[in-house]
Amino acid sequence: MDTLELAEKVERGDRRALARAVTLVESGRADHRAEAVTVLERLAKTGRQALRIGLSGTPGVGKSTFIEAFGMMLIARGLRVAVLAVDPSSARSGGSILGDKTRMDRLSREAGAFIRPSPSQTHLGGVARRTRDAVALCEAAGFDVVLIETVGVGQSETVVAEMADMFVLLLAPAGGDELQGVKRGIMEMADLILVNKADGDLKTSASRTCADYAGALRLLRKRPQDPEGFPKAMMVSAAQETGLTEAWAEIEALIGWRRENGHWQGRRAEQARFWFQEDVRQALLAQLQTPDARARMRALGDAVARGEMPPGRAAQDMLADLRAVSASSGK
Ligand code: GDP
Repeated sequence: MDTLELAEKVERGDRRALARAVTLVESGRADHRAEAVTVLERLAKTGRQALRIGLSGTPGVGKSTFIEAFGMMLIARGLRVAVLAVDPSSARSGGSILGDKTRMDRLSREAGAFIRPSPSQTHLGGVARRTRDAVALCEAAGFDVVLIETVGVGQSETVVAEMADMFVLLLAPAGGDELQGVKRGIMEMADLILVNKADGDLKTSASRTCADYAGALRLLRKRPQDPEGFPKAMMVSAAQETGLTEAWAEIEALIGWRRENGHWQGRRAEQARFWFQEDVRQALLAQLQTPDARARMRALGDAVARGEMPPGRAAQDMLADLRAVSASSGK
């Protein structure tokens, strides 16, 4: 299948073509990358925009249960839902712990759903770029909502926030009255905190946890991109499927406000700029990873270590070499 045919099929919402296109954007091969860029450029013309929701939470908090229940609720409303994952640990474990099809059994059987585990890559930057491209493909394929899931372990949240229109933090009821050591930076990124497992014996502690977070959120500085009352903390039960329609109503209210006030487009514009810069950065770093470049780095490093050359001179030589290589490759 050529790139034109692939793009056309994705645009028609063909899920098999979409899966193929995602595989293409995930490939590290230079020829695949060139094809991927062509497909993405063609599909950008559709102008379709999904609502991109970043979702984070530590393992066990109920992310997959929530995504399945929430996704099914959206499907029942006639929306098409894609689920993507950013999981930098997948490279090490040899398999992604997120976005695993078997975890979202019901949702994965729905014709209106598309679920894709995290690409396995050593660098978060690589995972991020591939996921961001996959988001663009899902949008072009006509999905209404793209959920981008990540584990609550640090840097990956920032990356997800850079490609999402809003960020949801999923928490579990705390045992005591302490805030669960959620990093301040992650709290500050959250537009909506959902305290999950607000059911049965856990309901009381869920209610206390929710109140604690609502209080903590009120202490944060008000952001210009937020309407009154946001960021907000609410209770849900993914297992009992309660609070989900309320959470969706809040998401719609927030996004509606941001659209009306120009924050939606503003954020997307800033994100596009960020990803452009990131692509350039990644490509430059990749130039250092070729066998020739590594050998040259090693040789120059040895010379510097032996005191034969000052570091600055060696760096200049290295950069001149890289320029020569890219000039000779016709770029
Ligand atoms: P993940 O690791 O964040 O994806 O979490 P899972 O969705 O796999 O859920 C972890 C555990 O929490 C499982 O045993 C779920 O059955 C349970 N769980 C998830 N959501 C709820 C909920 O709303 N209420 C209760 N009581 N348990 C839940």
